[in-house]
Formats: sequence, structure tokens, C-alpha cells
Amino acid sequence: MLIPTAVNALKSSRSISWSPTGRLQQTLAGCLELSGISLHSGKVSKVKLCPEFAGRGRYFDFKSNFIPASIDYAEESPLCTTLCKDGFKIRTVEHLLSAMEAMGVDNCRIEIANEDDEDSEVEVPIFDGSAGKWVDAIGEIGLKLAIDQCGNCCEKMAPYVNQPVHVWRNDCYLVAFPASAVRITYGIDFPQVEQMQNMGLIKGGSIENALVCSVSKGWINPPLRFHDEPCRHKVLDFIGDLSLFAQLGSQGIPVAHIVAYKGGHAMHTNFVRHLSENIRVEK
Ligand SMILES: [Zn+2]
Repeated sequence: MLIPTAVNALKSSRSISWSPTGRLQQTLAGCLELSGISLHSGKVSKVKLCPEFAGRGRYFDFKSNFIPASIDYAEESPLCTTLCKDGFKIRTVEHLLSAMEAMGVDNCRIEIANEDDEDSEVEVPIFDGSAGKWVDAIGEIGLKLAIDQCGNCCEKMAPYVNQPVHVWRNDCYLVAFPASAVRITYGIDFPQVEQMQNMGLIKGGSIENALVCSVSKGWINPPLRFHDEPCRHKVLDFIGDLSLFAQLGSQGIPVAHIVAYKGGHAMHTNFVRHLSENIRVEK
């Protein structure tokens, strides 16, 4: 039996409305576990992805604290996206969430733990700096239709942009135009990286997990996977941040043509916050 879940629970506004995608909500076919070093703290953490009921969405389980992968819990942090609830923080969630959003893992419990158990902060491992390891692991375990607690399948909803929405700061901007399918156009221009390590940031950063470019010598760690990999990485980050708009197992990425220039995590999350405030204010 098919239940058109959440249609009534999801609020629409003049500029954003929720419509069925024609697909059913999914979850993982089984559990998968990966561990590795994290980029910012340099510590080792362990992540276990588990199947979840339809309508539950994606959420972190850190020391039995449940933190939804939602814009409501996103906070400003340099160079990554952080979720925070009741003093517990999960950092660098964007690559994992991007892989799940793109692959259709709509509902998932994400158990995460530090090697050092005292911390109230934990970070998702960085691996090679891309989402490749998550994509491979999810592909290997596979997906299945998610059912709710009554055993019913649920429609997957998506947010549609009905009129242009934008955020901007100085010469950086994000604009979403109405379109019949998701399309992302991204322009980049990077700041200096060495400065960040001198400031004590990106402690776990190395040539193994970062794209390093020297002003005089060009790319230090070729071969890149693609000639436009830095730009593709921005789109990967952006999808991870847009996934925070997902609710009750829906799609997070708005159906729109989104044009972005020189955005970063702060601007991405501002954009998503802008979308959700827009819905709250207008209804
Ligand atoms: Zn990234």
C-alpha cells in the first residue's frame, strides 16, 4: 500500500512548494561501517550507516544523542559544515550527506563515535578528500525501498522553486531559477591554503586528501580525476549542504537551475536557511 506521506506535513510557500518525485523513499539494504582520520581535528572516528524507516530522514546518533541532518541544526564553522544539538557537534558532514543525497539514501541512522570517547565533538573521516569511499560503500551494500512502521512504502517528495530565490555577499552569490529538473552551474576562485594550516586549521590535511595548487608550480598532486575537479568538488560540497533541506525522507536539493559563484559552506547553508525561512514566513 502506498501512503502519500508528508504531503500535509511539508509546508509550501509562494516561492517553494513540495511535489511528488514519482519515486518511493529508500534506505540502505544493510549496515556498513567505515573509519578513518578526520581533516580538521586529525583524530580517528568510526561511522556506521544503518537502515531506517521511511519518513525518519537522515540523522546522526552520537552517544545516543540524535542530531537530524537538517538546516535547523547547522552552524557556521570555517571550511566545513557542522551540525550541533544540545552541545554535541558533528563536523564535516558534507561529503557523506552529499553521497547519500545523490544516491537516494533518503532515510538513515548514522552512528558516529570518536576513538577518544571523552569528546562532545566528532568529525566524519575525510578519506581521500572526495565522497568516493562513501559512494563505493553505499553502492556495494545497495538500497531497498524504505517502509514506515506500518509496513507501507512512502512517496518521495521534492522541493520545487516557483520563483527566483537568491543570496549574495560581496561578489559571491547563489541564485535558484525555476526549472523542470535539477541543474547546478558553479564558478570558483580560491583563496590561499597555506594560511589555513598556519592558523591551526585543517590539521589532518595532506596531499593525500586535498587538492593543493601552487601559484608558481600549478597543481602539486596530479593526476586529478578530472581537469575541472576543484569545481566538481564545490558541487559535491553544495549537494551535501543542500541535502540539509530534506525533511521526513524527502529530497533535499531543490528542483531548480542553481547558479553559484564563489560560494562556500557558509553561503550554501545561508541559502538553505533562506529557503526554509521563506517557507516559515510565507506559508
Ligand atoms: Zn568538500
